[in-house]
Amino acid sequence: MTVLEAIQKSADFLAKKGVESARLNAELLLAHQLKLPRMKLYLNFDRGLTAAETDGLRELVKRRSAREPLQHITGSTSFCGCEISVSRHALVPRPETELLAELGWKFLQGRADRLASQDAQPRVPATALDFGAGTGCIAIALAAKCSTARITALDIAPDALALARQNAALNKVAVRMEFLLSDGFAALSEGNQFDLIISNPPYIASAEIETLDPEVKDYDPRGALDGGPDGLDFYRRLAAEAKSFLIPAGKIMVEFGDGQADAIRSIFTAQKWIVETVQEDYSHRARILIARF
Ligand code: GLN
Repeated sequence: MTVLEAIQKSADFLAKKGVESARLNAELLLAHQLKLPRMKLYLNFDRGLTAAETDGLRELVKRRSAREPLQHITGSTSFCGCEISVSRHALVPRPETELLAELGWKFLQGRADRLASQDAQPRVPATALDFGAGTGCIAIALAAKCSTARITALDIAPDALALARQNAALNKVAVRMEFLLSDGFAALSEGNQFDLIISNPPYIASAEIETLDPEVKDYDPRGALDGGPDGLDFYRRLAAEAKSFLIPAGKIMVEFGDGQADAIRSIFTAQKWIVETVQEDYSHRARILIARF
């Protein structure tokens, strides 16, 4: 079988099993099997696969057809240019969250520049807290893009935090990061204040989880999805408790689900936050709220 035939056969099989973007998935699985960047496949369409390669690919396609996420099979994903290892212990980073991270590091860099211009000795770094860090993707992107900032990654799940730690090391930003095992803000010491609190908390209503794609409901940890009866539990908690952990000029940035914008805005304004922006994602859906107090 040639590379091209393998792609076509795998794509047909995946499509039949209800996998979205079957051709792209087939190409990425084959690229993973052959340890080649996907684009290199196009230069090798006529290359024959060895028996071992064919067997390996069959195994990968079988896993994907059972709706195991592509990123779990390949073991990693790219987030804001950082390589992030994924596992069953944390939510697979989503492309739309890259926008949240980008808004975060732009604000944080502005804070870092201002602090540097104040010429305080010793230098005071800009700081951010990633609340519910999961794989650590947001925290790591902030640390990678804002080279003087100090970032705290907080999560309630020890396995997720271990993964975040591993990802920080992989991206060589661990020296400027802290990892905090905490239920909400409980483990943070009083007086610990950040320039930025950023979060992509669980926001699916508990009863809706069963209606999600198998890749999500069967593989993302429940704790990373479940936002309580109406999906909004974590926003209530953030709106009520985050203030004392922000400096006066600080900001909170949160991602939320499609259709939740009005509810999230009300939750924050009810707690006397000033909502600065509700930002749309690339498909023009309101998905991020930025507030200060
Ligand atoms: N902060 C992580 C992410 O955005 C985890 C989010 C979560 O578990 N809800 O991918």
